[in-house]
Amino acid sequence: MAGEHILVVEDEPAVARGLLYGLKNEGFVTYWAENGQAALDIAHDKDVQLILLDIRLPDISGFDVCRQLRAEGKRQPIIMLTASDDEVDKVLGLELGADDYVVKPYSLREVISRIRAMLRRAYGELATGAEPEKLSFGNIVIDVNRLQVQRNDQPINLTPTEFRLLRYLVSNPDRPISRDTLIEMVWGYGSDIGDDRTIDVHIRHLREKLEDDPTNPRWLLTVRGFGYKFRPDIAKS
Ligand code: CA
Repeated sequence: MAGEHILVVEDEPAVARGLLYGLKNEGFVTYWAENGQAALDIAHDKDVQLILLDIRLPDISGFDVCRQLRAEGKRQPIIMLTASDDEVDKVLGLELGADDYVVKPYSLREVISRIRAMLRRAYGELATGAEPEKLSFGNIVIDVNRLQVQRNDQPINLTPTEFRLLRYLVSNPDRPISRDTLIEMVWGYGSDIGDDRTIDVHIRHLREKLEDDPTNPRWLLTVRGFGYKFRPDIAKS
């Protein structure tokens, strides 16, 4: 379970309820907007990682909501919920800035797997935009765009898997992250990796490469019986 915040914009209460229920079941935190203005308000006020956006709304259309958010520089992934293939053409043709679309009627499972794929693309790998280009802690600097890590100004050779794992942990500071979530974020939804020990091995390698004392880690901490968490710098002396 990931805990990302998802905004559902859907004016039909029964449809909205089904989506909200399914998303909560998957561990997401949800917001619901039943019209376009409410969607904009929530997108402005709340920390939302992804928006599910119905096109036909009672006030402003989903197209306009999408266009306005992009014009304001909002970069969260937006998945449009479309009622027909005609609308799909518009989503694709108008360059609104939507990232994906799902045609109604859709299955909840399909929507959730699209959401996970989108979150992974936006936040798990080469995120751009809202994310800083460089993340740093202690003597470590992570160059997100160039996929490089330096320790004491010297390049560290991480495998792509180690890089994704590190990047995900560092992007979620002070948050215990389960092994299942890490597997999903690093290898993808429905991946066959599925072995907790695989994560443990990669964490060990990361500690060996990054920690001054790998057996007594300062940053990459074990959360017993659950997973791991990244602890950012504490008080500097
Ligand atoms: Ca609608």
